[in-house]
Amino acid sequence: MSLSELGEFGLIDRLRALTGEPPEGELWIGDDTAVLRAPGGTLLFTADLLVEGVHFDLAWTAPEDLGWKAIAVNASDVAAMGGTPRRALVSLGVRPGTEPGFLEALYRGMRACCDRFGLAVAGGDVSRASELVVSVAMLGNPAGRRVFERRGAAPGDTVCVTGTLGAAAAGLALLRAGRPARPDLAAAHCRPVPRVREAEVLRRHLPSAMIDVSDGLASDLGHLCAASGVGAQIGAERLPAVDLTGAGLDADPLALALTGGEDYELCFTIPPDRAARAAAAVEAETGTPVHLVGEVTDRAGELALTRAGQPEPLPLPPGGWDHFRS
Ligand SMILES: [Mg+2]
Repeated sequence: MSLSELGEFGLIDRLRALTGEPPEGELWIGDDTAVLRAPGGTLLFTADLLVEGVHFDLAWTAPEDLGWKAIAVNASDVAAMGGTPRRALVSLGVRPGTEPGFLEALYRGMRACCDRFGLAVAGGDVSRASELVVSVAMLGNPAGRRVFERRGAAPGDTVCVTGTLGAAAAGLALLRAGRPARPDLAAAHCRPVPRVREAEVLRRHLPSAMIDVSDGLASDLGHLCAASGVGAQIGAERLPAVDLTGAGLDADPLALALTGGEDYELCFTIPPDRAARAAAAVEAETGTPVHLVGEVTDRAGELALTRAGQPEPLPLPPGGWDHFRS
């Protein structure tokens, strides 16, 4: 079977069988970060790989933005566990003819994101390669021993998302077309803001499960539901879908919100009696709105969309981004 038939998640399942089972109290493959026991506490450990031609195109990606994003996407995974990102290692694959100034700009972008969120690049490695590869590994601290996994959502819980969904995908479409008529959308793609502060507020309100939206809400909420053994029902009119006014883009905001990806918002579930208060606290302390978009159901694996209470087909098959099938 080829990788394109197996898919990214099929591959991960096979590799996971070869890495073995974690000891009691640890969590390895299958969530936003690994959870490790360490002397004096618990650590969150994650990695993300950005490959030229797959994740970014240097025709419209400035090196500062790429550096920012490489740090931001890892910080987003740490935040999705309710943690605070602390230190990163950066490994680069670089074409031999690359200008040193390009790599300095890349590191300036990383530094800007690190400074904003109180973390640092502590080391790494570099090698010759046929295209630019930026691999970041990151450690973070959870609040105490508590981490917020993908599993834990219970039927009846409220499904919430931070910020806006679909803006990064809209920005990418504009950049690809060479006409970023809405710089805010282009920025959503180039400089995503990881929801680190929001997670720090949210963890005091004890969400039942949490994930960051990297592949599109349909896909990522699907992962959360699969890990929790539940389903979810989302209200189309309740989703904070991107406003495309003035973008000159022929796209369905709802489809972008559900399947666009790279928004790096947080999606969490929480018992309904605590949802509004948690949302209000995040908004009051960070300025980021939190929307209550649906409910967890007992229909395991089923993601349903409704409009005014009536069932509505998902605009595109859920599945989001798969590295080997796309
Ligand atoms: Mg994630």
